[in-house]
Amino acid sequence: MSITDRKPVRVVVLGGGTAGWMSAAGLAGLLGPLVEVTLVESEDIGIVGVGEATLPHIRGYVERLGIDEAAFMQATHATYKLGIDFRDFGRIGESYVHPFGTFGEEVAGVPFHHYWLEMQRQGRAADIGTYSLGVMAALENKFRPPSADASLTSTYGYAYQFDATLFGPFLREHAKKLGVERVEGKVIEVVRDGASGDVTSLKLESGQSLEGDLFIDCSGFRALMIGGALEEEWEDWSQWLPCDRAAAMPCAHVTQEIQPYTTATAMPAGWRWRIPLQHRIGNGYVFSSSFISEDEACSAIAAAAEGTQLADPRVLRFRAGRRKSSWNRNVIAVGLASGFLEPLESTSIYLTQMAVTYLLELFPIDGKIDPRDRDEFNRLVDMEYDRVRDFLILHYHATERDDSEFWNHVRTMRVPDSLQEKMTLWREAGRVEKYSDGLFYDASWIAVYIGQGLLPERHDPRTRLPDPARIERALGSLQQAIRDQTAAMPGHREFLTARAERL
Ligand code: FAD
Repeated sequence: MSITDRKPVRVVVLGGGTAGWMSAAGLAGLLGPLVEVTLVESEDIGIVGVGEATLPHIRGYVERLGIDEAAFMQATHATYKLGIDFRDFGRIGESYVHPFGTFGEEVAGVPFHHYWLEMQRQGRAADIGTYSLGVMAALENKFRPPSADASLTSTYGYAYQFDATLFGPFLREHAKKLGVERVEGKVIEVVRDGASGDVTSLKLESGQSLEGDLFIDCSGFRALMIGGALEEEWEDWSQWLPCDRAAAMPCAHVTQEIQPYTTATAMPAGWRWRIPLQHRIGNGYVFSSSFISEDEACSAIAAAAEGTQLADPRVLRFRAGRRKSSWNRNVIAVGLASGFLEPLESTSIYLTQMAVTYLLELFPIDGKIDPRDRDEFNRLVDMEYDRVRDFLILHYHATERDDSEFWNHVRTMRVPDSLQEKMTLWREAGRVEKYSDGLFYDASWIAVYIGQGLLPERHDPRTRLPDPARIERALGSLQQAIRDQTAAMPGHREFLTARAERL
């Protein structure tokens, strides 16, 4: 049977936030005539409208859909992001950058950080960030896309920081061109087949009924299908990630410079973000309501954020965790309906993207769901969430802070066994577990461990060379090459302006 002879699978997407439009555009764009996609959204209900910082993987999504990067960035007032500057997490007054890139390079099969640990022990190494081009370019407010060769200029990556209220509408226009049908209206009932339990249609307030073979639940925290109709269980992670609120507030720029990075600053009952966009700065205090009230958090973010306040702080409520299964019967939850992890490492849009990617790989082309595909999807999605969860908990747990009840709690809490094992491996031998898929890679763990002052007891003994001055010279040359490359890059704002002028 040729592709065009097949009856397309009818996919109904519930929700027109970032997750809904990423799903609809991804399925329509990459499955073409195999699917017929309808998306229903309600303007009355609206979208979450936060979620401004991303990870480099999003570039793959933009590219695969044939979206022009410059046009997309202009439409969403986007800036480039080279990493996150973490302040006051390990100790008050200390900071480090978690870059989208590496530190130094492997020598004779021994990872760079082991050499750094040895030189640091001997008092011959500088801050590890000075051996990363991504870190140094970020701190100098410089930007240029990395090269595709294997040289120093290929050792970093980048993502975007954009206006979350403009990303969905941008994708909507793209998805409509791909044939996605948009229906405006409020879903009031999820209709299920009495025998199989599968969802058969969504009933709208207007009386309209949307029938489908496969339903994607992108209804956000409401989780109308996965949580409401199917009652899929929620795995609660608040014992490890106690933050359950955010007070978000935009401000005007205060300087000409636009930082090509997000800043995360630890606060007495959580942390606050600062995300520079082209036209404004997004700020928000992510906090635990067990340790501070909403009013106090709103006052704290208003006092901490620089620049003229463009709106009053808006409080958003959430719970850390995920569905036990994101794919149940013929319903697949994507985005906030599937789970939530606070934006400490900007991972939510990434998790949406990965859910769409896995769904594409395991898509029931003939409309019949193979339970093995469903199980595999759930395994992959769980793996992604669990990895991110452990990495986020590390930021709280690897601290010496004892200046507030909140920090005492997270510093002394029992962490998941999977994280405990990773931390033990690091502490005892300076090793980082290797992944072939999922987040986060070695350099990310190393950035946080070292950045937050958690140094291992031992490291690779092969780094104890008879002539340590040779390694010291090599480190010095690397630092110099990084300084030279950084100096040759244009300023971030300058690069953005030149790019916009070429449109
Ligand atoms: P929503 O935006 O809530 O969309 C839900 C959709 O469902 C809406 O269109 C709504 O109208 C529709 N809907 C609901 N019920 C009905 C109904 N009955 N009938 C019809 N339509 C309905 N992510 C990142 O990657 N980076 C970040 O920096 C980041 N920061 C964040 C900060 C905070 C404080 C929060 C809370 C989240 C953050 N996120 C971040 C997550 C990000 O905001 C979400 O992943 C993203 O917005 C996707 O949301 P969504 O589409 O799942 O849900």
